[in-house]
Amino acid sequence: MKHNKRTIRIGTRPSPLALRQAIEIHELLKVHHADFSAETIAIDTVGDKDKKTPLTRVDGSDFFTREIDEALIGGDIDCAVHSAKDLPLHIPQGLTIAAITKGIDNRDALVIRGQRLPRNARIGTSSARRTAEITRIGKDFRAFDIRGTIGERLALLDANVIDGLIVASAAMIRLGLTKRIYRYLDITTSPLQGRLAILVRSDRSDSAARFAAIDDRKNWGTVALVGSGPGAGDLITVRGMRRLAEADVVFHDELGTGEVLNMFPEKQMIYVGKRGRRSSIAQEDIHRAMIDAAYAGKKTVRLKGGDPFIFGRGGEEIEALRSARVDYEIVPGITSALAAASYAEVPLTMRGHSSSVLFATGRSNEGINVPKPDAAGTLVYYMAVETTRTIGHDLVAAGWRGETPVAVVTNASMRTQNVSQGNLAELADGKMHADSPALIIIGTTAGMMPHEGWFARRKNILMTGTNPGRYAHLGEIIHTPLIELVDPASYRNLDAAIRRLDTYDHLIFTSAHAVDFLFRRLSSLGGDVRRCAHIEIASVGAVTAEALMRHGIKPDITPTRASAAGLIDVFTERHVRGKRILIPRSNLAYDELPRTLKRMGNHVDAVIAYRNRMPPHPRTIDLAGINAIIFTSPSCARNFLKVYRRIPSHMEIMVLGDTTKKAIGRHYGTITIIP
Ligand code: SAH
Repeated sequence: MKHNKRTIRIGTRPSPLALRQAIEIHELLKVHHADFSAETIAIDTVGDKDKKTPLTRVDGSDFFTREIDEALIGGDIDCAVHSAKDLPLHIPQGLTIAAITKGIDNRDALVIRGQRLPRNARIGTSSARRTAEITRIGKDFRAFDIRGTIGERLALLDANVIDGLIVASAAMIRLGLTKRIYRYLDITTSPLQGRLAILVRSDRSDSAARFAAIDDRKNWGTVALVGSGPGAGDLITVRGMRRLAEADVVFHDELGTGEVLNMFPEKQMIYVGKRGRRSSIAQEDIHRAMIDAAYAGKKTVRLKGGDPFIFGRGGEEIEALRSARVDYEIVPGITSALAAASYAEVPLTMRGHSSSVLFATGRSNEGINVPKPDAAGTLVYYMAVETTRTIGHDLVAAGWRGETPVAVVTNASMRTQNVSQGNLAELADGKMHADSPALIIIGTTAGMMPHEGWFARRKNILMTGTNPGRYAHLGEIIHTPLIELVDPASYRNLDAAIRRLDTYDHLIFTSAHAVDFLFRRLSSLGGDVRRCAHIEIASVGAVTAEALMRHGIKPDITPTRASAAGLIDVFTERHVRGKRILIPRSNLAYDELPRTLKRMGNHVDAVIAYRNRMPPHPRTIDLAGINAIIFTSPSCARNFLKVYRRIPSHMEIMVLGDTTKKAIGRHYGTITIIP
């Protein structure tokens, strides 16, 4: 890149460390622009002059940057160099960050006087974060708020005012003082510590370009804060799905994310949830983990139940991302109140009944919102299972009628959803029980739902085969595959059959998978469907026929009875004999069909086109709430029994054809054949 040879005026603070940082920028740039020349202009900031205000109170402000940035806006300097962690949260209008360097050592270090620390050591620090961690480093340490340049702080140490000092190791490295470091500390530091930031005027794109080479941000990934919806996997947005599909790493909560996560079994998933009171991971650590992933160049998804901005701490998380200068986006999700309303049939607003909605927390420590009585408003309380009585009581005390209808919706949108109906008086009396997670919906429309709503009427159907989409019209499909279709142990026989395709009169497909595997193999051997043009093609049933259509083939034969027996009937009726017949099939297929066709005087090649096996780690689910199971093949039924031992007696069984029906046996009462 070509720039005018002109001396760049770098503005920075007058401290020895700041001056050293300006030189560091200068040196970095010289590597990329041989003709680069710069001079450093030292500018005092309020932070350099006011040495009393504890730094514990200036986080995110422009305490150490204001005067320099003003000089930049005024045109007295061409760029400002700051410690990246000192940048104000909001960059002044008219300025922009041209670069954030890769930086050096992010750690904090402990410096002491002499060889060891005394008891109850006074440890000098200058940040709230370090103060908070101080007793973690040494149980008897006492924090001592100090200020000043590194030199001034070391002087306090040497003068016995303090016994130890926590400093950024980067500062010690830059000043050539690493020898004085006693040990490195394992405490959370500011994510940007050790990095330098360069600000330029937004209207000077030429100067921004000059710094592009040393800008580490081009190596960073982004963070998408994605709302996963209330729990049912298909209630996530299309945009949320896209972000998940692209992600390198996903940090997720527990509530509401399970079904969504199951759709991406191969992704790196890191659980950072903290349900209820059982806080396992500090919010700060979640922030840091996301930020570090982004700095490491990872496309990062932060997956949160419902919507990120409804009681989801999404606000805090983007504040952390903003101050770390990480690029982010927010993908909204269906908040559980909306799901509960739809799935329990409680309109949140309704002409003539409710003209407003309030989403409130039921957590008592955050102060429960108890609005004035409003016959035309709906209230929804989140996180309220422990305070149901208080809420009922407080609302009645505030003047709400005891008969105001209440609906408690547990596990909204999930198979285990439960809705109980009552009124405020009952809620106050503890007569309405709520299991976590639940929402309490209060208002006239909560009294209008049918006894059994649309969701309660739907069948929950477990599907253990492949292609679950095909059965969506039957009810809620819960798909946990118990079969897996893989390449045959050897392709020798199939390949030989494909090479002599022109010699066959009939091709019979007894499953959709046979269709897909045969044509995939044919294609990889360089052929296509035209090789079958002269062959009469039979399909065992509708699903297999659909698969053929996808390959551009209309089957000549599809028996009315979808089974091997049905096929045999057709071939018998037509007196097929003396023909060459190919049946590509699975390793588990029954022999009845080829045997019968042979007995009728045909030449039959039954070759293995794919293997059907149990997945190495089959996922199982709690069968409570499941009303029916679809078995699409005998192997599905067999594997189900291997995994679950028995089919619960209340379960309706649905199969695709006679073969599977027969395989399940006589033990089970209701077996329906899916049309
Ligand atoms: N961000 C989430 C809320 C997180 S707070 C959202 O937008 O939905 C956690 C609370 O949400 C729970 O205490 C419960 O009140 C509610 N919640 C979450 N999922 C729920 C579900 N499937 N059914 C009922 N309540 C749910």
